[in-house]
Amino acid sequence: MITRRHLMGTAAAATALPFLPRAARAAAHSAAPVLPAAQRFTIGDMAVTALSDGALRIGPEALQGIDAEGYARAMTDQFIEPDDFRAAVNAFLIEAGDTKMLVDAGTGGAMGPDLGRLMGNLEATGTAPEDITMILASHLHPDHVGGAVDGGSAIFPNAELAFHEAERAFWTDDAIMQQAGESNAMFFNLARSVLDVYGDRLRPFSGEGEVAPGITAMPLPGHTPGHTGFAINSGDDSLLIWADILHVAPVQLRHPEVTIGFDVDPDQAAATRADILDRVVADRMMIAGSHINFPGLGHIMQAGEGYAMIDARYPYPA
Ligand SMILES: [Zn+2]
Repeated sequence: MITRRHLMGTAAAATALPFLPRAARAAAHSAAPVLPAAQRFTIGDMAVTALSDGALRIGPEALQGIDAEGYARAMTDQFIEPDDFRAAVNAFLIEAGDTKMLVDAGTGGAMGPDLGRLMGNLEATGTAPEDITMILASHLHPDHVGGAVDGGSAIFPNAELAFHEAERAFWTDDAIMQQAGESNAMFFNLARSVLDVYGDRLRPFSGEGEVAPGITAMPLPGHTPGHTGFAINSGDDSLLIWADILHVAPVQLRHPEVTIGFDVDPDQAAATRADILDRVVADRMMIAGSHINFPGLGHIMQAGEGYAMIDARYPYPA
């Protein structure tokens, strides 16, 4: 059932979407050479490579539970210019033996020229789109699966698409789409087109369970109904790719109750965030985030009333 609160969530998201880059930023980009942004980490017998798709502006107007002043204070305390904060958009390549899988696929052309860098960075790892055998979709938002399609065709011709069944149920529901209004139609259309294009290669899952050897789907609902993390276990190592548990890490680690307009169910998103933060602190589990500053891997520790992140050590070659 869709409540008014759910719809307000998606409506707020649409007005806050930072689709267009600032002119000054575009000029700065064109002046500097763009180096590959791909960082490979070893998790037991597997390799996980963080791939940058770019970054997007998320200002205080997109958040609930904090005002502009509180946002600015959190940023300034952490040496970030509040007007200039941009959240990363990361995807992750998992290599297990000869198998190559992607957790999410970036924005493609869905969100403007500041983003859509995933394919270039994937290429820098020596991986071709044809090599990818599975896309593990954390959810069906455009910054996670927009890059899986180009119009009506698949970017990854040999990949199965694994996703939580609750995502399909939500995004393909005509009544929900109608209630969400014209301003949110793009979210629904994009999700539907991805499901369409990968039609004969869809691998829906529901609940917690193994989706590939050593990779366990962990439902983390709230941001979207089927929002899911992927836990990788190999040898003594583990990594939880928790996707969109944080959108504005400098704010939401300090204030985990702060939600974002993109949350379909903000209360559930905040409760899920509180639970998983507790759990990764207790278990000392390494995490990777879709919107945490690239490469987005690290550990979480308690800090005062909230949390802080210790970035993963740079993986120097042995
Ligand atoms: Zn996202």
